Parts: sequence; structure tokens; C-alpha cells
Amino acid sequence: MTQFTHRKNTRKVKVGPLTIGGSDEVIMQSMTMSKTHDVEATVAEILRLEEAGCQIVRVACPKMEDAEAIPEIKKRINIPLVVDIHFDYKMALKAIEGGADKIRINPGNIGRREKVEAVVNAAKAKGIPIRIGVNAGSLEKRILDKYGYPTAEGMVESALHHIKILEDLDFHDIIVSMKASDVDLAIEAYEKAAEAFDYPLHLGITESGTLFAGTVKSAAGLGVLLHKGIGNTMRISLSADPVEEIKVQKELLKSFGLAANAATLVSCPTCGRIEIDLISIANEVEEYLQGVHAPIKVSVLGCAVNGPGEAKEADIGIAGARGEGLLFMKGKTIRKVPEETMVEELKKEIDKLAEAHYEK
Ligand code: SF4
Repeated sequence: MTQFTHRKNTRKVKVGPLTIGGSDEVIMQSMTMSKTHDVEATVAEILRLEEAGCQIVRVACPKMEDAEAIPEIKKRINIPLVVDIHFDYKMALKAIEGGADKIRINPGNIGRREKVEAVVNAAKAKGIPIRIGVNAGSLEKRILDKYGYPTAEGMVESALHHIKILEDLDFHDIIVSMKASDVDLAIEAYEKAAEAFDYPLHLGITESGTLFAGTVKSAAGLGVLLHKGIGNTMRISLSADPVEEIKVQKELLKSFGLAANAATLVSCPTCGRIEIDLISIANEVEEYLQGVHAPIKVSVLGCAVNGPGEAKEADIGIAGARGEGLLFMKGKTIRKVPEETMVEELKKEIDKLAEAHYEK
């Protein structure tokens, strides 16, 4: 079996000021739900996503009026904008002209060579990449006829077909996704893709479901890939507020040490020795940490039975102790705090650590 291409060894592809590929960084993306031509709603949604930590945002472009809205949206947002077009090359041209930082279009679906050339030349002129989005649910008929049903081999064959069209036009700023809603199929397709070419991979399990089920399903599939070093950017697709997609991605990247400036919460599983209302405290601290952009490890323990020494690797934490809390740093108790002010005290200490990190 050929060795797969580790994310660090993929090509580097620029998307606005960001680089996808060629490093261990995995860029977080999401997609808006509003109608793209509704500029107010789309911009508001993107600004919320930015605040949550989204690094690249994609908008759907089913109509020309959506493509026409791109310049105004671009003016009012701060992260790179990807425009998703299915077939219409005129919309692709309009989006590129309007300042899209990347377009998602499958060159094999555009039609005549002159149309493909027009899109590729426009992308080249602006220095923007093209994402090829292979989807198990919409493979070309000839590939389905050959394999009988969607397979990982068929998905790679489809990707290579689209890639060749671009390469023949001397275009190499390519990113590829291999989405499937079946977790095993998606894993296999991404593994084979990472063996077949070195273009950066955009990870995703498509139609994964609701916030709860979709999170589990996406984490199961993408976790395997991230662990193997596959994937340079990702979108978790949930039937939920897109901000939730970013929260899930952040947490997933943190699990693999791939989120640079994110704070992590370690909380105990609770048991009969519990001395404080740990579940609500853990939830409150977790919410607070969403806004902390420093690699701080925070621990919240229900009791001090094993001592704060249990959580030595935590930068800061609290352990419940009969109506009060022990505030500790790196395993050493620094002071006792009353239960009512415990969380506030912890937040203040977190802020101090974050400030020290920002000043570095
Ligand atoms: Fe139980 Fe205390 Fe351990 Fe939490 S820290 S699981 S309450 S023993």
C-alpha cells in the first residue's frame, strides 16, 4: 500500500491571507444558512461565526443575485469567503469578479471546455483556489455504472477526473473534499485520496444529523482521519446553528492537540463524593472558555478526595470541599474560596493567565 500524504506534506494553497496545507494546522470552516442575497442576514451570521472562531466561511450561490451580493458581503466581513457554485460558470465568474477568496465548483460539471477555461483563467488571474467537492451521493453516472454503488475507489476516480481537468489547464491551487454520510465510506475515501494525491483535503461527513447525533458521527469519522494526520481544513455539517459547528470543530481539534490558541476544560465524571454543583459549574466554565484564545488547561473537580494533585497538568482549577472550593494552580492549592464566588474567582484567574499569554 502506498504511504498516505500526511497533512504537513500536502501542497500549500492560499485562501485569502490563510494557507491551507503544508503544515499541521487544520483550518475551521462553516457555512451560512441565510439566503446569500440577503446581505444583512448573511453578514450578521458571518460575524457571529467569526466571533466563535470560524476561520473561513462558505456561502451557497444557487442564483445570480447571490453571486451579485458577494462584493457587499466581502466589504463587511473579516474572514475569507468561499462561494459554492454547482454548475453555472457565469455565477462562478461573477463570484470571482466580486472578490470570492475561493470557489467550490467541480470542473467536470461546468460543461464545455471554453467555460471551464474561463473560470480557471479568472481564478488564476485573482490567485484564488478551487475546491473540488466529491460527494458519494452525487457521483458521475459512468462511475456509478462501473462500481455499481458509491465506493471509495469511485470517489477517488471522480476526484482525479476533476483534478486532471484543472491540471491540464496548468491550475494547481486545488483543495479536495470526499464527503459521504456513511462514516466508514468517508474514512476510506479520504484515506485513499491521501494516498492518491497531495492536494490539501477538506474533511467532512455530510448530512451527519442533528447537534447531538451529528457531533458523535462527525467526531467518530473525522477523529480517525485527524489521528492519522489526514485533513487540512474541515467543516462539521450539523442540522443546527452553524456556530455549533465551530464549537464542535474546536473541541475535536483540541482533542488531538491541533487547536493552537484554545483553552481546554478537564472536568471530573462526578460520583457520590461530589461536594459542589459540578455539572452546572463545568458548563458555565466551558462556555466562558469559548472566548479565551490562549492554550490554558482548566480543571474542575467535584471534590478534593484525590487532591488537586490529580490535575497536575491543569494550569488552574477548582475542587469542591464542603461548601467551598479549593483554587489550585499546577496541582498546588493557592487559596480557599466560598462556593458562591468560586466560579467568579476561577474566571478571574483564567483571565490573568490569558492576559499573560496575549502579552507574550
Ligand atoms: Fe468523584 Fe471527587 Fe473524582 Fe469527582 S473528583 S469523580 S467527585 S472522587
